[in-house]
Order: sequence, then structure tokens, then C-alpha cells
Amino acid sequence: MTNNTILRLAIQRKGRLSEDSLSLIKESGIKFSSGTGKLKSTAQNFPIEFLFLRDDDIPDYVADGVADIGIVGENVALEKGKNIDHLKKLGFSKCRLSLAIPKEANYKGFEYFQHASIATSYPKILQDFLTRNNIVANIHEISGSVEIAPSIGLANGVCDIVSSGSTLLSNGLKEVETILKSEAIIIGNQQMSDEKKSILDKLIFRIESVQRGKNKKYILLNAPNENLDSIIKLLPGMRSPTVVPLADKGWSSIHSVVNEDDFWDVIEKLRNAGAEGILVVPIEKMIL
Ligand code: ATP
Ligand code: MG
Repeated sequence: MTNNTILRLAIQRKGRLSEDSLSLIKESGIKFSSGTGKLKSTAQNFPIEFLFLRDDDIPDYVADGVADIGIVGENVALEKGKNIDHLKKLGFSKCRLSLAIPKEANYKGFEYFQHASIATSYPKILQDFLTRNNIVANIHEISGSVEIAPSIGLANGVCDIVSSGSTLLSNGLKEVETILKSEAIIIGNQQMSDEKKSILDKLIFRIESVQRGKNKKYILLNAPNENLDSIIKLLPGMRSPTVVPLADKGWSSIHSVVNEDDFWDVIEKLRNAGAEGILVVPIEKMIL
């Protein structure tokens, strides 16, 4: 086993994936310099090297082994990716790939697209979707500004990335079908060496610890001892809450972890159960 093996990670150089991809790496405790215009960088404290590329190129580079892993949208991974593994969803750059048509058109279902022409940058995903739904249509592949195609007479509809829908609206289009829900994912080469796999496992362990922490809050509160039982029932914690006596007799401090999602609900119940002096602290990392 060589101890100088390095894992190569391809990330988008500039665009909607870049900032969150870099923050995730930084929050995982990996230090590196990412000066503007740099195409390659090596981490200072972890065996990983970064390649900064256009997102469309990342699946091919990963399939060929030029990079071992990459961060891309599932939309790009599915469109371009042959022979790559989808390793981990990352929870950012959420969007969907949808079919849209002129807003004044009457839409009664998929039949609208029978023998229609559809402009898209995602011909493969679109063709698979149409085939599954027994629709024969003419796909116009264009690489950008897809949403203007109907207004210039190039197509009857588009298949494009949507997040808020405002770009569609401002081009006189309405969304009629969602083909795919997408978010950023880690993709991987299928023939990675065991040494590289072991670096990847360490990286994923760190990423999962950061992700887990993001969905939780650390909570500290004071309560009179007679209310402890009912308060503890509201706070499951990682194993069970920590209870520490206060200097003030008859009172305790309770520490626990709560889910971000039911946070306000829990706070309200805690107050009703007699909790006071409630402190809420973000969690940087959470190891189970
Ligand atoms: P590149 O120059 O690297 O080819 P690009 O212009 O193709 O970049 P971006 O617009 O930066 O790509 O989008 C990158 C990815 O981010 C998309 O493939 C998609 O997964 C996701 N994405 C696109 N639009 C949005 C959006 N409005 N909100 C959130 N995520 C989005
Ligand atoms: Mg691109």
C-alpha cells in the first residue's frame, strides 16, 4: 500500500454548484487554496486534489478516471453519465427538470407532446421520459437559452431546469410536467483502487457528520426539578438528555439535541412544561 495516494475530486469552477461544494469541503475540515482562475489545487491536510472544471465535463472525466469523484447536479450526471456510480446526495443546488409550454396553450396531458417539437439541453433524459410515456416527439438539442425557443418558433415546448419558475414565466411559459427532481451529488469512478476508496470513505464520513449537524441544534435550558420528568420526555437527545444540578437548589440545567424541523414546536412545549433560560446553539459536526 502506497501512502502517497491522492483522491482527485472534480468540482464546478464557476457556477451554481461551486460555492456550496467548496463550503462543504471546508466544513469537512479540509484546507486548500482556491484562488480565482486556478484549475487545480491540493489540500494541505487531507490526501485530496481538486480539479476545477465545467460541470458538463465532470461525468466524463470521472468515468475515464481523470478524476476519481466529482460533484455535479443529478441532471448532469444522468444526462452525461455512463459508467459512473452515484455515491451521495448533498442536499444543495436543488432544482427540477420540467416540461413547459406557452402559457396560453391548453394542456390536457402528455398527448400535447405527441409529434411536437421540444427544445432542450437534456436530450437523453427527455428521450427516455418520452419513450416511457409512449410519446414520439422531435427533440431540438440546444445548449443554452432554451426558454426562448417557443417564442421564436423553434419548438412547441421546452424541457429545462426550473427552480422558482420565474425564468419560465418571464418567457411566457408554464410548467406542465416534472421529469426529474435534482440536487447536487457525489459521483464516482467505478474502478477506484482500495487506497482511494479508503480516502473516499473518510471524506464521506466527514461530510455526513457536517450534514447531520446542520439539521440539529444543541439546546440548554433550566427547569425546576419537579418538572424534569415531563421535560425529559420532550427531549430525546442523542442517547438521553444531560441533566446537571444548578447551584440554586431545586433547579437543574438540561442539555440536549433537537431536530431543526420540529424545533419551534419543541420550544413551545418546553416553555409550557416550565423550562426557562433556553439557549440554542448551532452544531458544527455530529458523530454518532
Ligand atoms: P458550467 O459553466 O460549469 O457548464 P452551467 O451554466 O452549465 O455551468 P449552472 O447554471 O452553474 O450550470 O448550474 C449548475 C447546476 O446547478 C445545474 O446543472 C443544476 O443541477 C443546478 N441548478 C441549475 N439552476 C439552478 C437553480 N436555479 N437553483 C438551484 N440549482 C440550480
Ligand atoms: Mg454546464
